[in-house]
Amino acid sequence: MQALVLERKGELSLRDMQLDEPLGPHDVRIALHTVGICGSDVHYYTHGAIGPFVVREPMVLGHEASGKVIEVGAEVTDLQVGDRVCMEPGIPDPNGRATRLGIYNLDPAVRFWATPPIHGVLRPEVVHPAAFTFKLPDSVSYAEGAMVEPLAVGVHAATKAQIKPGDVAVVTGAGPIGMVTALSALAGGCSRVIITDVQQPKLDLAATLGAITPVNVAEQSLVEVVNEMTDNWGADIVFECSGNAKVAAAAFQPLCPGGTVIFVGMPVEPITYDITYAATKEARVQHIFRYAHVYPRALSLMGSGQLDVKPLITDTFAFADSVEAFDFAVEMPPTSVKAQIELDG
Ligand code: ZN
Repeated sequence: MQALVLERKGELSLRDMQLDEPLGPHDVRIALHTVGICGSDVHYYTHGAIGPFVVREPMVLGHEASGKVIEVGAEVTDLQVGDRVCMEPGIPDPNGRATRLGIYNLDPAVRFWATPPIHGVLRPEVVHPAAFTFKLPDSVSYAEGAMVEPLAVGVHAATKAQIKPGDVAVVTGAGPIGMVTALSALAGGCSRVIITDVQQPKLDLAATLGAITPVNVAEQSLVEVVNEMTDNWGADIVFECSGNAKVAAAAFQPLCPGGTVIFVGMPVEPITYDITYAATKEARVQHIFRYAHVYPRALSLMGSGQLDVKPLITDTFAFADSVEAFDFAVEMPPTSVKAQIELDG
């Protein structure tokens, strides 16, 4: 079948690839409809590796996906041919210790789409476990369905933050993950989210998404804005989504005493932060990695109309133009948030 293949660092081709997958009794076969381009896909394209994951053989990209069920395994009872679905891209070992502890996202044996050596889904079809395939509510489009994967990161971060109604949160970085984290924080009960970036168009978009105050840190001091809004108390929660080592190190500054810092972004370089300063606030620090079983919550929020990701989908490309789409994503203009590729479904 035709697939978007990362041949090696810097070289993409849309070409035929042998990807025959048998349908197990608990699997479904899905015709892909929409696949979002993630920062990680782009990073594999430009760098050939993310940390310990190195692209050594040609690999199909793409893991933010929605589609239609076209075949169901003999034991599958909750999905039918024709169902519109989105898929969770990481399949853990069901017998692994982490899985049995309920932290399957941390299973060292997890097989995650488009993380070497596992192929992604920029291709017409894929076989996937029914347990990791979720029906879309009628009101949720395929494009929104393909946003559930990044949204799941935000929902997981908001869950780990243990938000209390009325909390004030800061989100550093208004990229796709910052945006979905801000939306998740509001859905989780925050009264206001202050979001930072240096790209004004992203901040302008964020300001239209709800009770979100944009702060352009090239022009304004985040700490001053937070102090002004909170009577000099500070934000209850800081979600670090920029992945920038300097920004991450400064995450404790706008935090209130007893507050929580959630590290969502992944700096390429190790970060150093002032533990003594963090200690004076008795800050709780939480790291997150992907997500564990939050797709149903993310879909419920979308289906009920409580959370709208549509404004984040700024660019759509045809499958035939996949290489062009990736080159666009490498040089993403500040007005764009999420680019997606449409297959035929
Ligand atoms: Zn992603």
